[in-house]
Amino acid sequence: MRITAIHAYRVELPLHEGSYKWSGGNAVSVFDSTIVAVETDAGITGYGEVCPLGPAYLPAYAAGARTGIAELAPHLIGLDPRELGPLNKRMDQAMRGHPYVKSPIDIACWDILGKATGVPVATLLGGRYGADFALYRAISQDEPEKMAEMVSTYRGQGYTKFQLKVGGDPGTDIARITAASARLESGDVLIADANTGWLQHQALRVAHAVRDVDVYIEQPCMSYAECLAVRRHTNRPFILDEVIDDLAMVVRGAGDQAMDVINLKISKVGGLTKAKQIRDLCVSLGIALTIEDTWGGDITTAAIAALAHSTPPEFLFSSTDFNSYVTVSTAAGAPQRKHGRMAASLEPGLGIQPRMEVLGRPVL
Ligand code: MG
Repeated sequence: MRITAIHAYRVELPLHEGSYKWSGGNAVSVFDSTIVAVETDAGITGYGEVCPLGPAYLPAYAAGARTGIAELAPHLIGLDPRELGPLNKRMDQAMRGHPYVKSPIDIACWDILGKATGVPVATLLGGRYGADFALYRAISQDEPEKMAEMVSTYRGQGYTKFQLKVGGDPGTDIARITAASARLESGDVLIADANTGWLQHQALRVAHAVRDVDVYIEQPCMSYAECLAVRRHTNRPFILDEVIDDLAMVVRGAGDQAMDVINLKISKVGGLTKAKQIRDLCVSLGIALTIEDTWGGDITTAAIAALAHSTPPEFLFSSTDFNSYVTVSTAAGAPQRKHGRMAASLEPGLGIQPRMEVLGRPVL
């Protein structure tokens, strides 16, 4: 089987809640998503998606994804998409870095492998554990009482894990965490995600003030060194996200005892092939994972579900159902949230059929 063509589509994904706000005054109201179709001479087409959280979150942006795919695609024509190792090696040889450009291509090739073998991607990634898995809900940055109110609103939708977007003024963030924690019920999980927004002294103030609150601290500061300093002075369980962008950083963090949990985003590390490596290493090391992506719609959600559902449940800290945050459906057959939980498809590949009327004409 050979790759004969790679196309890309641009889709806008507006949010049900109007906008999503996090640290540094950042906000997105309409996501700019790129869906990739990898065509083969066997008549099988695989689909992948990449959707950066705007240009200010990671070194990634939507137009950059499409420019990068146009640059990379000619190097991949003629390769066997089922041979994920050689495919990834070729991508890394042809383009240094830019993992988010490679991610949708890698995901599409896993979709092809599944379709060609009649096996779901979750099975190819290791096999499903149980019937479904738990999701977290991100709570957009807002006034403390409004964020606390959203804990109750989302619990009403079945969620039990709540991730507060903090990383602002330390005093306000302490109030956000305290107000939200007052709404928790037995079994709930609360995460305060600063998204690199605090300086080290600010993070230490917040961590000290919430030392008796049942809350996880996620990515307090910009650099690994600052996060490590905070980690060594707090008694709260600790999650690293933005700085964990490849396998080597997991090894380094594990050696330093720098985190209890990592946030693994598929496009941050270059696709499902590399995300699976990191997932498997974390399971071996005893590090739990939130498995998700920077954002996306139905196809990203299907890829997340395949990786999350094939992760041992005691190591799957949480996952995300991005397709329920956005108003546009780009594919049929994608996993849907039920009572705060989700399941990977049982169909071959990712189990999705893109809605071509929504995708429109290819931009590449
Ligand atoms: Mg995070």
